[in-house]
Amino acid sequence: NKRTKIKVLLSGEQIGQEVTVMGWVRTFRNNQFIALNDGSTNNNIQVVAELGLLGEADLKRITTGASLKVTGEVVASLGKGQAVEVKATAIEILGDSDAEKYPLQPKKHSLEFLREKAHLRFRTNTFGAVFRIRHSLAFAVHQFFNDRGFVYLHTPIITSSDAEGAGEMFRVTTLPLENPPTQEDGSIDFSEDFFGKSTNLTVSGQLEGELGAMAFSEIYTFGPTFRAENSNTTRHLAEFWMIEPEMAFHDIEDNMNLAEAFIQHLIRYAMEHNAEDLAFLDQRLAEEEKSKPQAERSELGLLEKLRFVVENKFERITYTDAINILLESPAYKKKKFKYEVSWGIDLQSEHERYLVEKHFKKPVIVTGYPAAIKAFYMRMNDDGKTVAAMDILAPGIGEIVGGSQREERLEILEKRMSDMHIPAEEMSWYLDTRRFGTVPHAGFGLGFERMVQFVTGMGNIRDVIPFARTPKNCEF
Ligand code: ATP
Ligand code: MG
Ligand code: MG
Ligand code: MG
Repeated sequence: NKRTKIKVLLSGEQIGQEVTVMGWVRTFRNNQFIALNDGSTNNNIQVVAELGLLGEADLKRITTGASLKVTGEVVASLGKGQAVEVKATAIEILGDSDAEKYPLQPKKHSLEFLREKAHLRFRTNTFGAVFRIRHSLAFAVHQFFNDRGFVYLHTPIITSSDAEGAGEMFRVTTLPLENPPTQEDGSIDFSEDFFGKSTNLTVSGQLEGELGAMAFSEIYTFGPTFRAENSNTTRHLAEFWMIEPEMAFHDIEDNMNLAEAFIQHLIRYAMEHNAEDLAFLDQRLAEEEKSKPQAERSELGLLEKLRFVVENKFERITYTDAINILLESPAYKKKKFKYEVSWGIDLQSEHERYLVEKHFKKPVIVTGYPAAIKAFYMRMNDDGKTVAAMDILAPGIGEIVGGSQREERLEILEKRMSDMHIPAEEMSWYLDTRRFGTVPHAGFGLGFERMVQFVTGMGNIRDVIPFARTPKNCEF
């Protein structure tokens, strides 16, 4: 297979050579000029079919969406926009595409429309750019941790631990839906299920990750995560990917430093390796902004925003500071918040976005949340009412990272678990890390899709994952 990728062709190094290119037709003009795309870049290669090369019948088959194999000579292009084109000597039609039925016309489609044609949207410029950037970011995740000596630990997808879950879990069972075995009190008897107990899809790999950190010192997991989120928001999916590093001998300060460096690394990597796609999305977003009223437009363009975030330290505040800022804000005084503000609340997306977008105008790390609203494993602070938690809030999204220093003191952890009615017997495996050689340790979870949203500027999380799973939506 001597196929040359279009991205390589467009570099112009093969002028004068004979090449073979394959791809899908984007447009066909004047019975002569074919714009061909193979997904390696948003830029199409112009294929010039000399008059007479194709018969009448074949000319009709070159339609938007059809796939072609083209052989020809790479020549300098006289037209504007690109340096080279291919002067075809042979064109083979690999697959026809009925122009009447093909959903993607050579015009700009709305994101909503493309969400309904999700099986074909990879063939558009917007999604081409988004998913090439997503690919790069995934690669950069592994690079970052590999360079620092972290072990990539695969945590299980099916688990029996439900420590995190507040009714957000997807059950995994092989029991019959009709007449499942029941216990005396009428509840389902999971002892007869495949694993002999009730199991679910993972909502976080953290607890298992901690086991790894207590042996390898530093690990990370990067895998699919599942939450039966019942609300339709622009930042929640039922199936998403999470990156969760876990580090022994780290405190909350080290944790924040690592998370900040990590996010900056990911952005820098994309800026270096996806400049063309980012420029495309920057332009796309700028046009979208123009259609908004002046007051709602963002001050910085996408590229300006990314550059700002890699060049400036994130703001660091406590939860108590955050509440005070919100209480003193014009938004609060004018009753613009839908949810109440008082010490003890869980920050809502509107509060998070106020802090980053209106107040600080940069990413913010919030620490010291009330223990009552955070998970049992977070380390209790000396005040006895807050924990060593940290959330990172990003403009346009709100929370992208949730992390903490973990409670390494067995007695305090056990007390916390019993206060929260978490059965310690079932989590003996977890408590063993505190029984045998416990050490201070910390970690965080970064929602990969929220990171992709941040880097691409896409407003809806459904548009940054190839196959989105949301309530009532699982087409394929
Ligand atoms: P939120 O407040 O947005 O519901 P969370 O506090 O429930 O998030 P965590 O349990 O802290 O989320 O999970 C760690 C990270 O995983 C979050 O900071 C976020 O980036 C990501 N995340 C959580 N839930 C989802 C989801 N349903 N879809 C996509 N990403 C998610
Ligand atoms: Mg949540
Ligand atoms: Mg949250
Ligand atoms: Mg969180």
